[in-house]
Amino acid sequence: MTRCYHSRMECLSCVSELDHCHGTLVSHEDDFVECTDSGCRDLDLARHVFTATCADVDGGCHCTAVFVEEFAKAS
Ligand SMILES: [Zn+2]
Ligand SMILES: [Zn+2]
Ligand SMILES: [Zn+2]
Repeated sequence: MTRCYHSRMECLSCVSELDHCHGTLVSHEDDFVECTDSGCRDLDLARHVFTATCADVDGGCHCTAVFVEEFAKAS
């Protein structure tokens, strides 16, 4: 049985005791996926309550920065 370790943050998956993660799954432009929870073991979309793209990350991300740079060169 996998229990959610964020005992004070019970979500639907906690109640149903499904294996899941409370971190935010961040997907990048280059298909790289990471989780804000450093203890996350499985980057499966289905395990995550919160998802975002790296364009939504505060301060941006290396891959969106590269994209902007290449766009500037092309124009
Ligand atoms: Zn939960
Ligand atoms: Zn990124
Ligand atoms: Zn996670």
